[in-house]
Amino acid sequence: MHDIIPQPPERTATPAELADHDARIERARTGQQLPRTLHALAEQGARLVHCGQCWQRPGRPCTVSGPAGDHLARYMRAERKGLLSHAELVGVVRHLDAIAPSALVLDVTP
Ligand SMILES: [Zn+2]
Repeated sequence: MHDIIPQPPERTATPAELADHDARIERARTGQQLPRTLHALAEQGARLVHCGQCWQRPGRPCTVSGPAGDHLARYMRAERKGLLSHAELVGVVRHLDAIAPSALVLDVTP
């Protein structure tokens, strides 16, 4: 007799995840390190640390509804911890209208 193992519902990749995937393929194809996408900077940098603005714990975006996003304070902390380069932090800031620790960096592909 076979027990049925519950499976999570299938989901499709978000545009940000697809862009990140394409960047990884391009890095492998060209042998050159291409800039990380905003999604990668969130997943591999900002979301590995607590947010100094709203104290969201690692692994979760700062936003609780709507598109995923994180406070700039979190990216700044990730940069201090060496998870992002200074140049990558500058790239994140370019997406903002105003520069403040409370500014939200949305995890969307432009
Ligand atoms: Zn936050």
